[in-house]
Amino acid sequence: MKFRNFKMVGYVVYGRGSFNQLDEILAPQRKENKPMIFLVDHFFEGKPLVDRIPLRGNDRVIFADVTYEPKTIYVDSLAQLLKDEFGQISGVIGIGGGSTMDLAKAVSLMMNNPGSSADYQGWDLVKHPGVYKAGIPTLSGTGAEVSRTTVLTGPTKKLGMNSDFTPFDQIVLDPELTKDAPANQRFYTGMDCYIHCIESLEGTYLNEFSKSYGEKALQLCRDVFVNKETWDDDCDDKLMMASYAGGMSIAYSQVGVAHAVSYGLSYLLGTKHGIGNCIVMNHLEEYYPKGVKEFKHMVEKNNIDIPAGICKDLTEEDFDKMMNVSLGMKPLWENALGKDWETIMTRQKLRELYGKL
Ligand code: NAD
Ligand code: ZN
Repeated sequence: MKFRNFKMVGYVVYGRGSFNQLDEILAPQRKENKPMIFLVDHFFEGKPLVDRIPLRGNDRVIFADVTYEPKTIYVDSLAQLLKDEFGQISGVIGIGGGSTMDLAKAVSLMMNNPGSSADYQGWDLVKHPGVYKAGIPTLSGTGAEVSRTTVLTGPTKKLGMNSDFTPFDQIVLDPELTKDAPANQRFYTGMDCYIHCIESLEGTYLNEFSKSYGEKALQLCRDVFVNKETWDDDCDDKLMMASYAGGMSIAYSQVGVAHAVSYGLSYLLGTKHGIGNCIVMNHLEEYYPKGVKEFKHMVEKNNIDIPAGICKDLTEEDFDKMMNVSLGMKPLWENALGKDWETIMTRQKLRELYGKL
């Protein structure tokens, strides 16, 4: 048995208005004539948050286009642009949802590693630490703020740059930044966290470390999506901590069926992570009976639309592609169904499941 020895985020600040401390936090990280780059979710273009970014010297704000989930070519072009214009930079600050935070992590790494980010999709392939990087979530749920990966779609695969150099040096958890998120988006991303908890707590890799964080995160998800009548500041506070704890829970266990199947959707159809997980979770009674029942209750209570029939016009070739991607996620299946997972999740069984989505 080899125990995971995992690298965590360097510094954490939490609280409403903690964003205002950013200038002070970044000051010691600044290097002469090398700018801080603020990579900001394009949703905030023209919004008041941009005026609160503590720009100094030749700092630059770049709006991240997150219409699609991050691609390796986008990461490479951002890193190249920064190298061409500045040579070296002091750091990258990602302000946004999981997509923007992942972009920031990847761009930081690519400032100091040669080649393309596609070369580093996998486990522990990154050779050198990146430049200083900080993550500031504006949506809660993915756990990208604490994870050691950055999920990228490359020319041949959708896989993260998993490494000890990947976690942020600093995160700023300010729940005020999530308050304008639309209800549907907030729910999809929030459910990413709920599903992390169910998959971790119901998985065979479970241990007391994961359980401690997973149970707390689950309780916080219930507080906001089941017990609250209307969304308020308290919900934003709680969901931000749920995301953090949910991320810590899977850091020491693994996700499961919903993620494994959702990866196939995202690879073939470009379905976004949060919504894809919800589409799949809706049909997983057999694997997570209690979790799915509660999930459906939350969908109804929060008045959320979950798309249906997204696979109805696909060809058998398409189904095969999705199944290949999904069945390639071996640790996820093993966590969910045990060592004999291949006898349980046969191709035929998975084909039936995709057919229902
Ligand atoms: P997202 O970052 O893709 O953003 C979704 C939408 O919400 C975008 O249109 C964005 O502009 C908008 N948005 C962001 N903040 C907003 C705000 N405060 N108000 C209004 N709109 C806002 O969504 P997400 O669910 O946070 O992240 C999904 C991404 O995270 C995927 O790319 C997925 O692969 C990745 N992910 C990474 C990890 C990890 O460990 N690195 C884990 C899970 C998911
Ligand atoms: Zn997830």
